[in-house]
Amino acid sequence: MSYQSDLYQKVILDHSQSPRNFYPLEDSSHKCIGHNPLCGDQFVVYMKVNGELIEDVSFAGSGCAISKSSASLMTSFIKRKTVEEVRQIFDEFHKMILGEFDPNYRENNLGKLKVFLGVREFPSRTKCATLAWHTMIGALDGNKETSTE
Ligand code: ZN
Repeated sequence: MSYQSDLYQKVILDHSQSPRNFYPLEDSSHKCIGHNPLCGDQFVVYMKVNGELIEDVSFAGSGCAISKSSASLMTSFIKRKTVEEVRQIFDEFHKMILGEFDPNYRENNLGKLKVFLGVREFPSRTKCATLAWHTMIGALDGNKETSTE
């Protein structure tokens, strides 16, 4: 196994077994429910946005190890960033998962999110990896519900 896919497996295991920010946020300003019917993943993403700053973010629900670890990593990564930064990161993350952007060869803002490059080896799981991200963008856009379909 390559170093990158080994790290990918470790991060998935760690974040799915001990998800970070895994509770409903009581004073959220934005929230959205996201469904991935292909796998049965379903999460609510809660955000507390103050002006341009994402002050807090959390999630609740259930799903497979990939969707849950991706949501966990996302919530820790985007907390205290601005809406504009987060939209840029979403764009890069989404393109990376789809294989349109390789963070090893291009300047990017993905940091530790780069481990999800490993999901490209499992094309049927791309929607699991992006569900929380689509749901978070849905919340920012004022949508109550979103689906990967
Ligand atoms: Zn899934």
